[in-house]
Parts: sequence; C-alpha cells; structure tokens
Amino acid sequence: MKGNDLISTLYEHGTLASLMAGNMDGTITVADLLKHGSTGIGTFNGLDGEVIILDGEVYQAVSDGHVNHMTDRQAKMPFASVHTPEDLEKIELSNVDFTALNGDFAEKHALKNIFAALRLKGNFNHVKVRIAPKQEKPYPSLLEVAKGQPTFTNDNVTGTIIGYYAPEIFGSVTAAGWHLHFISDDRQFAGHLLEFNADQLTGDLQIFDNLQQHMPINDQAFRQGEVDMGILRDSIAQSEGNND
Ligand SMILES: [Zn+2]
Repeated sequence: MKGNDLISTLYEHGTLASLMAGNMDGTITVADLLKHGSTGIGTFNGLDGEVIILDGEVYQAVSDGHVNHMTDRQAKMPFASVHTPEDLEKIELSNVDFTALNGDFAEKHALKNIFAALRLKGNFNHVKVRIAPKQEKPYPSLLEVAKGQPTFTNDNVTGTIIGYYAPEIFGSVTAAGWHLHFISDDRQFAGHLLEFNADQLTGDLQIFDNLQQHMPINDQAFRQGEVDMGILRDSIAQSEGNND
C-alpha cells in the first residue's frame, strides 16, 4: 500500500473537452512529456493515431493498422497522459474483459473516485482496437471523427494493456472510466482498446493521489475555444465510452 509521505502523480497534458471541441494541434513535445513519466497514452498532432508509451519508448498506431516506433522527440501531442510506475500493486486476473474491469475489479480496488494506472500483460484470446485517423484543418469535432474510425481485431495475441481509470466527475477533463490502449509484444498491432478477453493476465495497478493537469496556454484555440457542455457530454459518451 502507499506510504503516506509518497506523492504519486498522473500528469496530463491538454483536456479531453478541448480535443472534443476540435483543438487537435500538438501542444507538447514528446521530449517535454517524457520529463513527467515513462509510461502512458495519447495521440499525435491532428489526432494522428493512438500512442502507447512503455519504458520511455513511444509507439504510434496509425489508421491503416501499422505501428510506428516513434523516435522523434520533437513530435507534438495535443492530449497525453504519463506517469512513473512506482509503488505498484501486483495483480493477477482470470477470465478478464471490460465487464470484469468495470465490475468486480473496480469494486475490489475501490476505484470509483480516484485516478489509477493499469498495466496488464499476457496472452489475449481476442482484442479489438480502434485507431483515430489523422485530421486536416479545419479540424472536425471528435464526435465527427469518431463516426469514421477504423477498427482492427486480433486473436490469440500476446501483448500489454496500458492506460488509466478516471473518476466520472473529471469526465470532461479526461475520459471517465477506463481509457486503455493495447500493444502486442511484437509491436505490430496496437490501438485504443474497445474489447478484449483473456484467460489469465498479470500486471500492476497504481493509485494516484495527485493529478497534474497541464494546459497548453500558448495555443489560442485552447485559450479561446467555445465548449458546448451539452454536446460535449453526449460526444464523450459516444466517442470515448467503453463502459459496457
Ligand atoms: Zn485512446
């Protein structure tokens, strides 16, 4: 369990609300993001793909299904979350899927009102991901993009799930509930996780007592953008929801 004196921080750059409103220009470099953690998820400039960051290595799944190992530290991201794995609670799960994560698992670990990172490894019977296609200006809303995102499936694949749990009350700052990405061990298959099931997975859970929300204050679209809260709530539910 956590020591009382240890602060465990989830660092987030940009907000889901701003991304939903179509502010998709990259506003933090990979180099700057990695100063705040070695592990995480995000997307690139123009909503170009799904990003998985493991041990400081950055992978980008692009919408034709390929996975790039990104070594350009000056590439920019509009929305990303990272943390430094520490103070981990080891976990072993049998017969695991989103229903289990949303149900027994979330309840057992009392996740409802906290931020947490989840990393799970093993052999997956089935994985379904989606990959955001790169957008051109003028950027559409994320809801428009969500209607046309390609999905990919893979069966009997070994890999890693990495991502976060966020409380519903922060649901316009970041995706409420689970926001998980997947990458295969051979680094050939990756994306934003929509469905999965596995007989046996091992990994770790990290509970954060601190959220560091970083704002792209030099981005005028972020500074001056209008957010319609009603549309925003519906959009988030439709494009980011995976609470089945
Ligand atoms: Zn995602």
